[in-house]
Amino acid sequence: VQEKLNLLQENTHNTVNSLLDKTALALAVKVDTKIKNGEKIGLLEGIPFGVKDVYMLQGTNTTASSNLLKNYKSPFTATAIQKLLDAGAIPIVKENCDSFGHGSSSENTIFGAVKNALNPALVAGGSSGGSAVNVAKNFTIFSIGGDTGGSIRQPAGYNKIYGLKPTYGRISRYGLMAYASSTDCVGPLAKSIEDIRIILNVMSGKDAKDQTSITSKEIDEKAISNNTVKTIGYFKNFIESDAIDADVKADFLTSIEKIKATGIKVKALDFFKSDILVSTYYTLAMAETASNLSRLDGTNYGNRIEAENLIETYAVTRSENFSEETKRRIVGGNQVLSQGFSDEIYLKGLALRDQISTNFDKDFKEVDIILSPVTPSAPPKIGESLKDPHAMYLSDAYTVGFSLAQLPTLTIPQGTVTGLQITAAKNNEEIILKFANFLK
Ligand code: GLN
Repeated sequence: VQEKLNLLQENTHNTVNSLLDKTALALAVKVDTKIKNGEKIGLLEGIPFGVKDVYMLQGTNTTASSNLLKNYKSPFTATAIQKLLDAGAIPIVKENCDSFGHGSSSENTIFGAVKNALNPALVAGGSSGGSAVNVAKNFTIFSIGGDTGGSIRQPAGYNKIYGLKPTYGRISRYGLMAYASSTDCVGPLAKSIEDIRIILNVMSGKDAKDQTSITSKEIDEKAISNNTVKTIGYFKNFIESDAIDADVKADFLTSIEKIKATGIKVKALDFFKSDILVSTYYTLAMAETASNLSRLDGTNYGNRIEAENLIETYAVTRSENFSEETKRRIVGGNQVLSQGFSDEIYLKGLALRDQISTNFDKDFKEVDIILSPVTPSAPPKIGESLKDPHAMYLSDAYTVGFSLAQLPTLTIPQGTVTGLQITAAKNNEEIILKFANFLK
């Protein structure tokens, strides 16, 4: 714990100035004493981990990397994080991320851009960039990110580690600051499949405080040791698109060839075009975030800026404290929800989302899993994504479809560029972990 705290102290770009040194060290000493006394210790006891700064962890600053919540302290602890604490894991850091999860590069933050673990001139990916880099650099053993449209999987790919977005609802969202409630998922980033399995098991479960949470079966170590996948699918249009970089495509095709050589069948599938996926996702995500963030007006939470009257106070508090990217989404979201637009845009988005889910139901009758690259291109240089928000949205083309359908999906470090994404039908995390083990 001490060693990791020292490393974090030297790398503050990954953190939100909320190092939990004293409590972490006290907890570590307790575990040491238990071991010395020959007492039994819990499954995760003494293991240092990081928490994306969108989770409530009682007593810590919980900023969502936004000026609006810069001085906000969690009054309670998120269910998922509490379960880790109960298993003995030690939180050592709150992690830098794109403000409110809005972004794909971890540059939309008041704490400075997070730097890629493999090449500091490049972005870490986002929005869970601090979490991915801390794991990749061994500053934490695992970190808990949040994934609404790719925020665990994409930075995991950019930093060559594992990152799982579980089935929607498998892990309670209670205490996760809401971005887009219908796709928000809690999930782990780690360096091994075994760690992902263990952390998933610890955090899963129905929670009376989150009505969308579901019960699930624990995944046994033995259950994922032998492969049962017979047929895999991939989306033709992802691979044949002009938007994919040559080296991402080459990496992906190499993986496909390797899989074919083992006797597993490979099917090319039809899917929605990337721009349809991206516009459906952003229509719904912006609508939901505009609604969710309407509570942040300086009255109950956050930095309030007093003005002449109440309405002005709301306006100034929000316009001074929210980032450009967050304001873009609030404006966009309110527009698609407003009278005269909602039928044309928002309801159309909902209808497309249903069609996307139906398409997956059909696919999973033919294939056991779907493979795809995580992103169409390599991580950009720091500063580039900020110049062109639309290009940044398009870079989410391969992750958002699975989020809309609420499917479980895992990034594994394969190939030279951005990793491989393994997706299965709802609640079938087991087959994903099996196949990841097989590809290892
Ligand atoms: N990049 C996507 C967005 O900005 C996904 C972010 C996320 O999953 N939190 O919406």
